Amino acid sequence: MPEEILKTHILLVEDDQPLAEMVREFLVEQGFDVTIESDGVRAIDRIARRAYDAVVLDIGLPGTDGFNVCRSVRPKYSGPIIVLTARGEEIDEVIALEVGADDFMAKPVRPRALLARLKVHLRRGDLAPPASMTAVIVGDVRIEASSRTVSVAGERVDLTTAEFELLLYLAQRAGSVVQRKDIYIDLLQLPYDGLDRSIDLRVSRLRRKLNDDPNQPTRIKSIRGVGYLMAKTA
Ligand code: CA
Repeated sequence: MPEEILKTHILLVEDDQPLAEMVREFLVEQGFDVTIESDGVRAIDRIARRAYDAVVLDIGLPGTDGFNVCRSVRPKYSGPIIVLTARGEEIDEVIALEVGADDFMAKPVRPRALLARLKVHLRRGDLAPPASMTAVIVGDVRIEASSRTVSVAGERVDLTTAEFELLLYLAQRAGSVVQRKDIYIDLLQLPYDGLDRSIDLRVSRLRRKLNDDPNQPTRIKSIRGVGYLMAKTA
């Protein structure tokens, strides 16, 4: 079997060619296989046709922008998507997470930092659940750890890898308040800076997918200033 088939394959969607080449060169040196796509519409097509291990996505693209790419591939693509945002554009970060990105990084791209983020997200997808863990059931939410599937009242719900990890984490601690800083350390392997809203936005997406009322959530409750509580029965 040719070695390439075993390499982790990253799709880098970036129209700034010198930047794309620089990042590709760095990641290839690190043992990744990297495909560059410069056009948003073609990126959607590529992601639909091929199982990339991760996607790194610029926002400003010819064809269609990175937000649209993320929004259109997310229902089918469950791997990590890391969006590249302009520095300080907080609104871009919020939109990126709302359209289903798992993470964002401010430009200019620092290849080493990107590599670190990629490794965290790729490792998450690989984490095998312990053999003893078959299903976690909280009320009418059933989480099958081995097949990584979730159902609510018997109806299958499609979650991204990042959403699945967060739901499983909260469900395993159902009935207890989970601190935001612990979620950062355990799931993102990052210290919590007190500002980053990526977990909050992921919770919002989870609530939507679990048919939880965003204003009066009964499944995943917000504990002001602390974190979240998944109710044992909803
Ligand atoms: Ca661009």
